[in-house]
Amino acid sequence: MGYKTDIEIAREASKRPIQEIGAKLGISAEDLVPYGHDKAKVSADFIAAQSSKENGKLILVTAINPTPAGEGKTTTTVGLGDGLNAIGKKAAICIREASLGPCFGMKGGAAGGGYAQVVPMEDMNLHFTGDFHAITSAHNLLSAMIDNHIYWGNALEIDLRRVVWRRVMDMNDRALRDIVTSLGGVANGFPRQAGFDITVASEVMAILCLAKDLDDLQKRLGDIIVAYRRDRTPVYCRDIKADGAMTVLLKDAMQPNLVQTLENNPAFVHGGPFANIAHGCNSVVATTTALKIADYVVTEAGFGADLGAEKFMDIKCRHAGLAPDAVVIVATVRAMKMNGGVKKDDLGSENVAAVKEGCANLGRHIENVKGFGVPAVVAINHFVTDTDAEVEAIKDYVASLGSEAILCKHWAEGSKGIEALATRVSEIAESGVAKFETLYPNEMGLFEKIETVAKKIYRADEVIADKKIRDQLKQWEDAGYGALPVCMAKTQYSFTTDPNVRGAPTGHSIPIREVRLSAGAGFIVAICGEIMTMPGLPRVPSSESIMLNDQGQIEGLF
Ligand code: ADP
Ligand code: MG
Repeated sequence: MGYKTDIEIAREASKRPIQEIGAKLGISAEDLVPYGHDKAKVSADFIAAQSSKENGKLILVTAINPTPAGEGKTTTTVGLGDGLNAIGKKAAICIREASLGPCFGMKGGAAGGGYAQVVPMEDMNLHFTGDFHAITSAHNLLSAMIDNHIYWGNALEIDLRRVVWRRVMDMNDRALRDIVTSLGGVANGFPRQAGFDITVASEVMAILCLAKDLDDLQKRLGDIIVAYRRDRTPVYCRDIKADGAMTVLLKDAMQPNLVQTLENNPAFVHGGPFANIAHGCNSVVATTTALKIADYVVTEAGFGADLGAEKFMDIKCRHAGLAPDAVVIVATVRAMKMNGGVKKDDLGSENVAAVKEGCANLGRHIENVKGFGVPAVVAINHFVTDTDAEVEAIKDYVASLGSEAILCKHWAEGSKGIEALATRVSEIAESGVAKFETLYPNEMGLFEKIETVAKKIYRADEVIADKKIRDQLKQWEDAGYGALPVCMAKTQYSFTTDPNVRGAPTGHSIPIREVRLSAGAGFIVAICGEIMTMPGLPRVPSSESIMLNDQGQIEGLF
């Protein structure tokens, strides 16, 4: 039908100089640190000077359990930001930065899609302002200093078999998952088993995204556990004396990046932690800054609401003292069909019965979000293949739950396709009906926290964990980590740990395979099922079709 690709639309954008975008939020040219003409960092001094201002309204965009392609959360976040501006509100959006791994792999870019995009999308998807490179460097500096410490006599008595700090790279490279380092003789140190994770899985990434300022950043970096001694006592980053230099490397990366949407509205793009072993949302600094200078801030949490929204509430909001005023749950007809049992290849044809069947998944998420005390509204992200009957089926279902679903055409039309949602969301946010509460209190035991998420959000009957895992959690409680929230690492495709079980299952068990302590970031990771911290590339990676055309423009990003 001749639709333009995301990159074609992005290329046609009439961008304004970044100083004009900053001015919309009262950021003067001196307070912007420009990276070229269309990107800038917001200075730390400016951010510090806003602290006494009142917060605007915070709107979270989340989704149902998705299809493998994504449900359009970023697209809807960008669209809703533009929609709010279009109805006369001062709104900014906050989203994550892109990782090169998925960009060259399968998932594609992270700047939204259609007529709801952030630009420059090429830069945002590739290198951007160098934040991920800085995080990679800071992480690997610590890795190098650990091996160096061991090489020069190991005064801290690190047990070589218990070094838990790996290395990172912003690439999908399965060859580096498990490796042996320091081979080649005496001068190269002591051989040991090691490995690489992708940069977005680094604890440094999670820390950068949760730290309030540079002091908090350095403290959290110092708190990272890098290894254990033979007597199992932890060795901290602070003991290796890496926290100061790491903070130096991260100084600029801590300042949020400002870019613009296709409609020239302000967009903060900052940080990008994994949504499984970490909390999956943009930086606290970006969100808190945006809240000081915009009346509405629209932000996104990764994966479906069972993971993304829960972590946004229980980890990010808890750590940063934030409280959302409204939640938008993105649903698509095709994901409803998938949740209703339709195979991926059959999503193109009308199937109202499957949509109705799949709606149970949406209903569960609406209930869960309301459980946090925050009103939820459903955005039906319209695809051109959706039929009216399918859309009506979703609307009727949501209405039967006492909520509202609004059809949104921002992908095809930009802000004018999403004004109805923008109007409704602003009414809800202004009404002050939100009474946000985290799912569990800090004081609850760590295992009980895992159980609470599993039972209240996933609707499981039980959590299965070996004595070894329960003992580990107990030990961490005794060591003073008991007040931390839990970060669940589970498949995004299901409420269960089996990606093939769609819809709204009950009666299942959640097996905990492993628990990890992210002492610097400030959460306990509970791993349910296989979680990959270094992805691989697919048989035909998208990098095979990314290239420069005759005009020197980038082709193949999507
Ligand atoms: P998520 O943030 O949920 O992972 P994205 O917003 O990144 O999803 O969108 C995933 C992909 O789907 C993007 O390539 C985007 O262009 C595409 N997309 C989103 N909404 C629509 C739509 N309404 N019609 C067609 N394609 C869409
Ligand atoms: Mg997204």
